[in-house]
Amino acid sequence: MPPKNAVEPTDAAAPAMGAGVGPIRHPGPSTTAVHAGEAREKPGFAITDPIFAASTYTFASTRAIIDFLEEEQPREEYGRYGNPGEKVVERKLAELDRGEDAVLFATGMAALVGVLMPHVSAGDEIVFFDECYHRSREFCRRHLTRFGVGFREVATCDYDAMEAAITPRTRFLVSESPTNPHLSIIDAERFADIGRRHGVLTLIDATLCTPHNLRPLEAGVDLVLHSATKYLGGHNDLLAGAVIGSRDHLEPVRRLRGIMGSVNSPHNAYLLERGLKTLALRMDRHNANGLAVARFLETHPRIERVLYPGLASHPYHDLASRTMRGGGGLVTFFLRGTDGGPADWRTTAEVIDRVRIPRIGPSLGGVESLIEQPLVMSYWNYAPEERRAFGIPDNMIRLACGIEDADDLVADLAQALD
Ligand SMILES: *Cc1c(COP(=O)(O)O)cnc(C)c1O
Repeated sequence: MPPKNAVEPTDAAAPAMGAGVGPIRHPGPSTTAVHAGEAREKPGFAITDPIFAASTYTFASTRAIIDFLEEEQPREEYGRYGNPGEKVVERKLAELDRGEDAVLFATGMAALVGVLMPHVSAGDEIVFFDECYHRSREFCRRHLTRFGVGFREVATCDYDAMEAAITPRTRFLVSESPTNPHLSIIDAERFADIGRRHGVLTLIDATLCTPHNLRPLEAGVDLVLHSATKYLGGHNDLLAGAVIGSRDHLEPVRRLRGIMGSVNSPHNAYLLERGLKTLALRMDRHNANGLAVARFLETHPRIERVLYPGLASHPYHDLASRTMRGGGGLVTFFLRGTDGGPADWRTTAEVIDRVRIPRIGPSLGGVESLIEQPLVMSYWNYAPEERRAFGIPDNMIRLACGIEDADDLVADLAQALD
C-alpha cells in the first residue's frame, strides 16, 4: 500500500521562500520556477537537491515502521510510490500552476491514462474536443471503451456541442489549449463553467501553453495535465508528465500510480527540476521567437497561411491576447505552390530538407528548434480522407521554435523558402 500521507510534501516544514523574511505572496514566475518546492537547507549544505539513487527506504526498527504507518509520517517507503526528488518537482509544479497538489508521471501519456483511470467506471462517459492529442483520444476510443467507458468527440471550441454531449453518465470534459498543430485556443472559463454547471470534471492538457502562458486552474478548470517532455523539461533530454489539481482529485490518481508504477527515476526527476529552473526565461524566448517567425512567414509570398495565436489574423487572437502571456513557440504554416495553389507534399518536404537550424523530428518545447511535415511525421499511414478529417493537408509545416536567435531562425527560413 502506498503511504496514506503520500500527498504531503516531505519538506513542508522548510519552504524555500519566505523562511526568515516572513511570507512572500505569489512571487513572480521566474522566482517560483527557481525556488518553489525546494527545501531551504539541503543534505550536505548543497544548494542543489541530491539524487537519491534508491529503490527502497529503510526503517530503524519494527517500531519505526508501525509509527510510520500509524502517524502517516511524511517519508519514503518504496520507490514505486515516489521518491524525494519527484516530490520536489511536484511541489514546484503545483506552485507554478497554483494548484494544491501535483502528481508526476513517467510520460505525458502515463499522466493522461493515470488521471482518467481512477475517475471513471463502466457506464461513465468522457467528452473530448476533437483537436486533442490523437494518442489521448486513441486511448479512450480503443481502450477505455473496451471497459465500458463511453467516448464522444465534438468539434473544438464548439461549447454548445460539448454541453449537448453531456449525459447523466458524463464524468470528464477534456480539452487542450492551444491545440496541436492547429493552435486553437479554448476559453478556459467557459469550458470550466460548463463542467461546473453539470457537475462534470474538467481537464485541460496545457502542454503547449505551460503555466507561464496560462494557468487553467485559475479559470476554474479542475485538473491540468502537462507533457513535461516538452517545455517543462525544455531540453529534449527527458520524458515526463504531470497532473495538477486539488488534493481530493489527485489522491486516487497518486494511489493508482503507485500500482501502475509509472513513476520517474530519481535521476529523471532531477533533470526535470533542473530544466524547470529556467522555464520563465525559456518561455519568454519561445514566445518571442514564435511571434517573430510567424510575422516573417505571414509576409512571405510562398506562404499561404500562418496559424499563430499572436497574429491578428488568428481566429482566436483576441481570446489569446486577453488570457495568455504569449503565443508559445509553435508555428504552423502552409506552403504555396509555384502555381499559386497549395504546394504538393514533395515541394513541402523540400523546404523541410533545406532548413539548416531546426532539426527534423517530432516533439516540441526544447531549446533546439524542431521542424516537421505532419503528413509525413504523424499521418503517413493514414488514408487521404482520414487526413482531411484530422485537418492535416499535404502542405502543412509545423515549426517548434527553440531558443535560438530569432534573426537566425528567420534568415534560415528565408533561404529555405527562396
Ligand atoms: C507530447 C504530448 C503529449 C504526450 O506526452 P508524452 O510525454 O510524449 O507522453 C500529450 N499531449 C500533448 C499536447 C503533447 O504535445
